[in-house]
Amino acid sequence: MNTRYDRQIKHWGISNQNKLSNSCVAIIGAGGIGSACAELLCRSGVGELIVFDNDLISTSNLNRQVLYKESDVGKSKVKCLKSELKKINSNVKVNIFEEKLTFKNLDKISRAQLILDCTDKIQMKLLLNKIAYKLKKKLIYASASQRDVRIYIVNPESSKPCLNCILGEKTVQKNKGILNTTAHTSACLLADTAFKILMNDDSLFEEMIIFNLKTMSFLKLKTNKKKNCAVCST
Ligand SMILES: [Zn+2]
Repeated sequence: MNTRYDRQIKHWGISNQNKLSNSCVAIIGAGGIGSACAELLCRSGVGELIVFDNDLISTSNLNRQVLYKESDVGKSKVKCLKSELKKINSNVKVNIFEEKLTFKNLDKISRAQLILDCTDKIQMKLLLNKIAYKLKKKLIYASASQRDVRIYIVNPESSKPCLNCILGEKTVQKNKGILNTTAHTSACLLADTAFKILMNDDSLFEEMIIFNLKTMSFLKLKTNKKKNCAVCST
């Protein structure tokens, strides 16, 4: 008999599937990257998702945020996300918070083994970096702009550079637009990296991954630790 997870169990085995079904992942941001990543994790049978976003769905989201529809415009992203995820896989526990994650509500992600950065603001990414160090949880940074995707694993329990070392507080962020293919590539790389971390896969990467869909180039960029970094040097 074919069961829901047959195809993936053939690849990673039943013990890894069990690890996934016993895991809890915090997704911060339910936009283009977050909603697509949440769908992939939900379909794969992750045990629990905790999703934060205080935005409402707008018409300009519909080109890439595939779980949302015209009839959802003006509604809460996390409420629509939860409703769609429950239709996809009712076995997955979905906890939503229609608010921003700050240092004051960190208890809401205390169960999560892993934090996924699906935000689009540098300030929020740097805040998530500090939160990851405070909670000693791994954070996967993801960004998507035009046809450029970036993925990086922040590991507070290692000596590798943190996001503050790499992005810095003075990083200027310009909104240059985004394609749905870019957002979804970013979500796929993010979800796949999450699988590896949750399954203790030893093929994790240390570098910043940069994938460009225009040139189809895939780079692994070595990062450097900032001297006296306020987050990771103490
Ligand atoms: Zn640092």
